[in-house]
Amino acid sequence: MNTAICEKPVKQNNPTHQLQWERVNCNLCGADDTEIYHRERLPYFEQLLDFQIVRCRQCGLVYTNPRLTDHNATYLFGTDFNPKQIEAHAHAKQTVFERALNEIITLYQSNNPNAAAPVENSPPPAPNSPTLLDIGCGSGHFVALARKHNFQASGIEPTPASARYATEILNIPVHIGPIADIELPPQSFDIITAWDVIEHVADPLDVMQRCANWLRPGGILALRFPSSTWQKIKALILHNLLASRRPVFSPTMHLYFFNVRTFTQLAQRVGLTVLKAKTTPAEANTDNLLLNYAKLTSQIFLRTIETAGRTPIGNLEVYCRKLI
Ligand SMILES: [Zn+2]
Repeated sequence: MNTAICEKPVKQNNPTHQLQWERVNCNLCGADDTEIYHRERLPYFEQLLDFQIVRCRQCGLVYTNPRLTDHNATYLFGTDFNPKQIEAHAHAKQTVFERALNEIITLYQSNNPNAAAPVENSPPPAPNSPTLLDIGCGSGHFVALARKHNFQASGIEPTPASARYATEILNIPVHIGPIADIELPPQSFDIITAWDVIEHVADPLDVMQRCANWLRPGGILALRFPSSTWQKIKALILHNLLASRRPVFSPTMHLYFFNVRTFTQLAQRVGLTVLKAKTTPAEANTDNLLLNYAKLTSQIFLRTIETAGRTPIGNLEVYCRKLI
């Protein structure tokens, strides 16, 4: 397992950075038949750029098109290593991680009644305990939590500063690099997670196929991602009603925006069935009381719409099972 730190060129704040754009067909159905869903203007390397978010007329997938070829450059190439900042971010996500892990444990046990149940605080993980891979594990806090619950957990992380924290401070095993460069044995994981990842990748169908290949039959894939519907509602309120320039879709690095229907189609394409989809709770931001208040207000508004429509439309947590 590769635990070396990859040094990448730093492009941040480089005014000479040359932008390259590309147009892509729909990742879900392959069509090139879209309508404008939203427009957003935002800064990127000291340039103000206009983006369009489009919706496929054939299948409904929402995506950024055209898009920057190095769309993750703003954070992927950063080499800042700030443990205090990383720990504050992890602390804000702690409750979300704990709830998600409880959901995974319940689903795992429901399909594996004869398997040893994960037991909290029994490190190191036993050789026969369930295997878990966290794609885009960041600083490794979800992997560390899973290992506390006796999962044989490891991560994949392309960002050097985050991977450094995970390997050096939390001492967890991490494959460093983009998921497309990582080779792992097929059918080697009981559980794969990808929190806030699928919206960043250039080819979600390829990533889902890799996950399905790495999962054992009956294995669980859990993801969290911003939904197209909730982003659109937030954008309408912020940009149209409040005349704010605050980015919502953030298309310099977010390329795809699924909802329950389009994600279910994606999962089916790779042999997974969706077990559960729910709106994920917004994590607290302890540094900014105004932002906390705005988040709380927006969540109450969101719950009202969801109750009326009887479907989750907020930022989504989706749990799938690989068909046997
Ligand atoms: Zn399509």
